[in-house]
Amino acid sequence: MTSLPDTPAPARPRKIIHIDMDAFYASVEQRDRPELRGLPVAVGGSRERGVVAAASYEARKFGVRSAMPSVTARRKCPELIFVPPRFDVYKAVSQQIRACFAEHTPLIEPLSLDEAYLDVTENLQGIASATEIAERIRARIRQETGLTASAGVSYNKFLAKLASDHRKPDGLFVITPRMGPGFVEALPVGRFHGVGPATSTRMNRLGIHTGLDLRAQSMAFLQQHFGKAGPYYYWISRGIDDRPVRPDRIRKSIGAETTFAIDLTALEAADAALQPLIDKVWRYCEATGIRGRTVTLKVKYADFSQATRSRTGLTLITARGEIAQVSRALLEPLFPPPRGVRLLGVTLSTLNSEEPAEAGAQLTLLV
Ligand SMILES: [Mg+2]
Repeated sequence: MTSLPDTPAPARPRKIIHIDMDAFYASVEQRDRPELRGLPVAVGGSRERGVVAAASYEARKFGVRSAMPSVTARRKCPELIFVPPRFDVYKAVSQQIRACFAEHTPLIEPLSLDEAYLDVTENLQGIASATEIAERIRARIRQETGLTASAGVSYNKFLAKLASDHRKPDGLFVITPRMGPGFVEALPVGRFHGVGPATSTRMNRLGIHTGLDLRAQSMAFLQQHFGKAGPYYYWISRGIDDRPVRPDRIRKSIGAETTFAIDLTALEAADAALQPLIDKVWRYCEATGIRGRTVTLKVKYADFSQATRSRTGLTLITARGEIAQVSRALLEPLFPPPRGVRLLGVTLSTLNSEEPAEAGAQLTLLV
């Protein structure tokens, strides 16, 4: 037995469920349009341009994935059927599944329209088994929406999320405290929530391919290479994750960021890298009807120092192009950068879903 310094394990084991709808947007389309059932369907994008937002399981067999350019998707699957998204419908289904969760616990932390963590350690119906609660929720969702969900059950968020992915679609998987560390050991690091493609590439270059490789690294090494995320990686490689399930805070901002496999130094490369982030933020705005007035640009450098620049307009931003324009204006003065840029982020805040902000004059430059 190794003894762990400052183990942040909670005093009492928790019961956490992660629920994830299966191929959500695509499944909703196949539910509502029977002629699409059994066929490869991509929601979003078009035959010529754009990006796939979601792919049906039939499309996934051909290698079509969400966030893939439509052109690539069509090359992989020439019969792919492109369907425009209907975010108002997805949002309505999202509210239905939330109601299913709320029958069991108020501790619901949504990750997106179709995914949430639930803390059911204490639960409204006094059911002792988290697995039973997860099965009831899955059955209820199917009954209410006609759609399938997968569930992961474990003692923390990190493992619950890994578990929900393990028996997809329409599955349930439990990771017990005894299984946790071993389960993590065997997995490639790219499968871990919080390790994106760029971080995964960085880890691979450092010889870290699996959970076991990750666990072999010291805290100091991980902090040196991954900054603030280092301790998170240190603990998850041991199956430890003490983050609480944070219910429904009022959303104050909508942001997206990405870490690059290779640091950027050119303005045009940085501007190009911002575009998918702006797409993400804007897609969320369109899906939820939320709009904002403040655009914030975050730049993190190779040495982990960072700069943020914001601009707040008098009126709500109503088009994607406005975010792109302001981001570009905030980006330009930061180039050429003092060091390579390892991360860029774009955030929209001063949202119309919050309290009205005090009126500012013209454009306020908050630095
Ligand atoms: Mg899903």
